[in-house]
Amino acid sequence: MSENVRITLDEVRQLATDALLANGLSPEQTRAIADNVTRAERDECKSHGLFRISWYVSGVRGGTIKPDAVPVLSELAPTVVKVDAGGGYAPLAQEVGTDALIKKARSHGLAALAITRCSHVAALWPEVEVLAEQGLVAFAFTSAICFVAPAGGTKALYGTNPMAFAWPRDKGAPLVFDQSSSVSARGEIMLLQRDGKTLPDGWAIDPHGNPTNDPSTALAGAQLPFGGHKGAAIAMMVELLAGALIGESFSFEANELEPDDTKPAIGGEFILAIDPIACVAHNNRAAQIAHAETLFSKILEQDGTRLPSDRRLAARKRTPHEGVEIPRTLYNALLEMARP
Ligand code: NDP
Repeated sequence: MSENVRITLDEVRQLATDALLANGLSPEQTRAIADNVTRAERDECKSHGLFRISWYVSGVRGGTIKPDAVPVLSELAPTVVKVDAGGGYAPLAQEVGTDALIKKARSHGLAALAITRCSHVAALWPEVEVLAEQGLVAFAFTSAICFVAPAGGTKALYGTNPMAFAWPRDKGAPLVFDQSSSVSARGEIMLLQRDGKTLPDGWAIDPHGNPTNDPSTALAGAQLPFGGHKGAAIAMMVELLAGALIGESFSFEANELEPDDTKPAIGGEFILAIDPIACVAHNNRAAQIAHAETLFSKILEQDGTRLPSDRRLAARKRTPHEGVEIPRTLYNALLEMARP
């Protein structure tokens, strides 16, 4: 029996849909999550593809997540909209807030979307990419489960706290980067643990704050931010933007409410959109976009470089006709999850 199964993107969506519906997610929540998971598989962002379905299901089974939550949109200020996700998952809440954010950014030059009471177990690039496809510059921030120690500290305090940035381009998809503020994803440590391998230096500390290369000790201790105090500052900023700024919890507070770190936690997401036209004295969007392209060309002149997004966009061209591979064990687990 082969280790992997090759399936089409339609089958990805169907597997996700069947597993989520069978576990009580509403049709609206299910569709938004299944779309998101399918996008992740399409772009070969495996850690947020079908692999995550069991997380979505565990949040519902464990009672942390409201499976039929209906996000509610409101206006907090002329340039700030809020979506109360009602204790549900983020993808539907993002959909509900995106049009309002775009309209406000276009009217005022700059606008923000505060999503509260949501669980964000996904990648951030989809929500900024959709804004840049509309010509906007966009940022997104979310804090996550508390796994990362502050600079010089010994205990987990921050989430792996991703942030994403998108820049519009006239030809092709926007440029996007989307990165956690920890040295490594938690999943990478778990894979090394599974395979009996050691961690590279600098990834993690043990429960006493000493450096460790042992995955199990690292998982019991804390991960480290990338770039020492500089990454830690970004992790802190993400906590402030997705937490204190929008009236939501910090990662450590979310963990106090949901101490089981194998289940999604509830928190916030902060998204900022800027209309480039508003940032220069005379409307010259074409010049702004063309100027950015000179930077991208200069980067690519150097051997060994690529732009953030290039890997994803190459996968995006391939997977609609080639399909994607997932481990057979995952495939079987999804079929099992979909059984009534
Ligand atoms: P990576 O380190 O894999 O990649 C970060 C960014 O760098 C990507 O935009 C990637 O582009 C780009 N990149 C990678 N290599 C290069 C290179 N050689 N040259 C130029 N650009 C490059 O991401 P992380 O492991 O930090 O995060 C993975 C995902 O996990 C993210 O989507 C993040 O949002 C998500 N995440 C979500 C959390 C949550 O709670 N919701 C928590 C933590 C992470 P490309 O995609 O094209 O490779």
